[in-house]
Amino acid sequence: MTLTLTTVPCLADNYAFIIGNPATKEAAVIDVPQAAPINAAILAGGWHLTTVLLTHHHWDHIDGLDGLTNSADLHIIGAAADAHRLPALRTAVAEGDTIHVCGEDAQILDVSGHTVGHIAYHFAQSGFAFTADSLMALGCGRLFEGTPAQMWESMQKLRALPPETLICSGHEYTASNAAFALTLEPDNADLRSRVETIKTARLNSEPTVPSTLAVEQQTNPFLRADVPALKHAIGMDNADSTTVYAEIRARKDRF
Ligand code: ZN
Ligand code: FE
Repeated sequence: MTLTLTTVPCLADNYAFIIGNPATKEAAVIDVPQAAPINAAILAGGWHLTTVLLTHHHWDHIDGLDGLTNSADLHIIGAAADAHRLPALRTAVAEGDTIHVCGEDAQILDVSGHTVGHIAYHFAQSGFAFTADSLMALGCGRLFEGTPAQMWESMQKLRALPPETLICSGHEYTASNAAFALTLEPDNADLRSRVETIKTARLNSEPTVPSTLAVEQQTNPFLRADVPALKHAIGMDNADSTTVYAEIRARKDRF
C-alpha cells in the first residue's frame, strides 16, 4: 500500500500536502499555512483528517491550524526542540524517531539551517519526504537561524534518501531558484532542460513541487557543493564543500 499525495497551494506561494490512506480514508496534513484550501481538499477527497505534521515554527507553516474543520480532535506532531514555539503538540519528536501515520511509518530527520529545530518527515514506503523550507525545488531555505555548515549537513542527509523520493517542499520559488542556479552552472545540460520544463509549468500555472530527489541531485546547486563540476563552474575547485555551500548560499542571498 502506498499513500496518496495531494499538493495544496496556500497563501501566495506556500504548499501544504495531504497524505491519505485509500483503504481507511484516514489523512494527515503536512504544515498548515492556511485553513480554507486544506479544508476544501479534505472535503473533496472524502478524507478524515486525523493528524497534523509540522516542520517548523514559522507563521506561514502553522497559522491555519485553528481554522481546520476538526482542529480540536487533531493529533499534532512536531519537533521537541521547537515545542516552545509551536502550537501545543501531542507528540514531540526528534531525529531518529519513527512515527506511525495513516498506516505507514515515517522517520524524522533533523534538517536544521533555515531554523534550528526544523524537521523533515520521510515516508520510505510511499517515497515521500516533506522538507518544507530545508531542501526546496532547485533551492533551499534562507539561513535565519542555522549556520552554513548545519544546512550543508542537512542537505547531505536528504541527498542520501532513495533517488526516486518525492521532495515535497514548502514554497513555489522554483522559477527564481532556476534563474539563480543558471548563473552558477550555465553549462549543466540537466539544469538547462529542467529550467525549460519549469518555465512551461509556470506559464500554465502548474506547481513545480514536488520534484524527485534524482532531479535535485543533478540540478540543485545546494546539493552539489561537493560535486567537482559545480566547484569548477564557480572557480572553487580546491575549496572544501562547506565553504562552497556557504558561498552558494551567500550568492543566492544577494541574487
Ligand atoms: Zn520558513
Ligand atoms: Fe516558509
